[in-house]
Amino acid sequence: MKPVGKPGRTGELMPVEVALARLLALAEAAPIRDTETLPLAACEGRVLAQDLVSTLDLPPWPNSAMDGYALHLADWTGEPLPVSQRIFAGQAPEALARGTCARIFTGAPVPAGADCVEMQENAQVQADGRVVFTQSLRVQQNIRPQGQETTVGEVVLPAGTRLGPIEQGLAASLGCATLEVIRRVHVAVLSTGDELIEPGQPLGPGQIYNSNRVLLCSWLTRLGCEVLDAGILPDDLPATRQRLVELGDVDLILSTGGVSVGEADFLGIALREDGELALWKLAIKPGKPLTCGHYRGVPVIGLPGNPASTLVTFALLARPYLLRRQGVQAVEPLTFQVPAGFVWAKPGNRREYLRGRLEQGRAVIYKNQSSGVLRSAAWAEGLVEVREGSTLAQGDEVGFIPLSEVLG
Ligand code: AMP
Ligand code: MG
Repeated sequence: MKPVGKPGRTGELMPVEVALARLLALAEAAPIRDTETLPLAACEGRVLAQDLVSTLDLPPWPNSAMDGYALHLADWTGEPLPVSQRIFAGQAPEALARGTCARIFTGAPVPAGADCVEMQENAQVQADGRVVFTQSLRVQQNIRPQGQETTVGEVVLPAGTRLGPIEQGLAASLGCATLEVIRRVHVAVLSTGDELIEPGQPLGPGQIYNSNRVLLCSWLTRLGCEVLDAGILPDDLPATRQRLVELGDVDLILSTGGVSVGEADFLGIALREDGELALWKLAIKPGKPLTCGHYRGVPVIGLPGNPASTLVTFALLARPYLLRRQGVQAVEPLTFQVPAGFVWAKPGNRREYLRGRLEQGRAVIYKNQSSGVLRSAAWAEGLVEVREGSTLAQGDEVGFIPLSEVLG
């Protein structure tokens, strides 16, 4: 692992873009290359390991986009045409007899010799069974040509594509029963803090329930990671070392809380002894402190402990890192510009990610933006991005990142 770097000057805040670029560079230096072949239905959320190249033309033959009649346009002179065959989807038609038309249904192969399909709404069947067309006709109308979607040899999905229902459907349309995907990323989740206890226990004086643990474990599972839930780190150096050794050969140790300079910071001590640790001060709010390093070569990312900080830094920094380890290129969430439905009078020196919603097309924010308040994010539909040094009046454009963009 390369040195993780520090901000230029003491006290200088690292811009979000710089932190992201450094994390992505670290991810690219430690790519996960092992693959596995999975049944198509099991590929949801996984990353394609090799280009998906079409072995088919799609559609494999010209087919009808309508229920109607197939004809050779030059045969239509205004004289009624007899119907020479009926072609349903799934059938192999005969060549069209000249001077006739074929009854045809949506998805059925267009017979050789036909170059036009007219929808049944524009056709009149006479008493003698012959058909008259009531509208003008064009060559190729209502015919989906062979290879319209893809042709043999085309890269349909590049390696590094995250697979979801749409990509699975596309792979199925090409006849793929299995796909080769990057193996799951193994992530160990650690919580730190003497004040933490697990839900289900009675709350003692000074204690709070551990919310980050389940938040991150669930989120990582959604991201297709294999989660090693390593619980709360004990406040003791030998026990901390022991726990780190027990984690074994994971791809990432993801911790929350307190890797700083505190006297009880045993995780920090263990990492400095047996690895490397850099403390970044980010120009992001919530979530200023972020640690990055390794323990015996295993990458470590330490997120700040306040739950809203954990959420924002995971969404914007750790998630892209994990995706890039698997070769995903498009790791940044879509940001939409929307009018602000609030006023921001005081420019800050950190970029704010306010938990907000859209109401009548305007971004509005939760009343309490404290980094300790996870309820703000439960209320929210997205992160409202207010750039450092900026103020906002009602109606000014502001960035909006839907939480749905980052949660999966
Ligand atoms: P720290 O980063 O350890 O200074 O923690 C910052 C704040 O986040 C403190 O109020 C902690 O109590 C709180 N905190 C740290 N870890 C967790 C956690 N796993 N669940 C809930 N709150 C936490
Ligand atoms: Mg702490």
